[in-house]
Amino acid sequence: ERCVVAVDGPSGSGKSTVSRRLATAIDGIYLDTGAMYRAVTWAVLQAGVDLTDVDSVIKVAQETDLSIGTNPLAPHFEANGVDVDAAIRGPEVTGAVSAVAAVPQVRAMLVQFQQDIISGAPRIVVEGRDIASVVAPDADLKVYLTASAAARAQRRSAEDATDVAATEADLARRDKLDSSRAADPLKQADDATELDTTGLGIDDVVNRLLDMLNS
Ligand code: C5P
Repeated sequence: ERCVVAVDGPSGSGKSTVSRRLATAIDGIYLDTGAMYRAVTWAVLQAGVDLTDVDSVIKVAQETDLSIGTNPLAPHFEANGVDVDAAIRGPEVTGAVSAVAAVPQVRAMLVQFQQDIISGAPRIVVEGRDIASVVAPDADLKVYLTASAAARAQRRSAEDATDVAATEADLARRDKLDSSRAADPLKQADDATELDTTGLGIDDVVNRLLDMLNS
């Protein structure tokens, strides 16, 4: 039986950890769409292209050979044959990704790529910002994870060992950039179930989602 789960939400909401655990629990694959935008951003920076030069950004995006790992236990990404797993989490990519993700042609290209991966997978958990609304509007389960700003910053800084206050400021900056677009990908789909993960453990969240899937 086919099963597509859409997990949207801002960074630090717990969506990566939860999505990977849920994918493992349903014996499915995992697609990290944020990592796809990050990998394209890595290639744009690598090419030395000015982020405001939209035509060049689009050209690099189109010419980048992306290898997208979907194993929930070890999702490995390559861009143009280079392992980018560490680099796409670095401050340079994090600082530039919102600008690259704001380019409609880049979004159209990656959304198509994501839909191709989804249609070839019997069971899949897809995490991102626009999954329930744009990428997989027919998903069997749509959840929107949230958490308080402080909880989000705490989780992120635990992941990348940066200062909590600086992380909170950066998350606020990116939220603002991400949501100031014409087509706001952070806008929650009307039919998504919102779950506030502040103070909840990973197991609690995963179990709630499994309950929703089975009901
Ligand atoms: O989730 P993550 O923090 O890795 O996403 C990085 C960035 O990629 C987000 O800040 C957003 O700009 C962009 N993104 C997007 N649409 C998605 C996933 C991520 O625009 N589906």
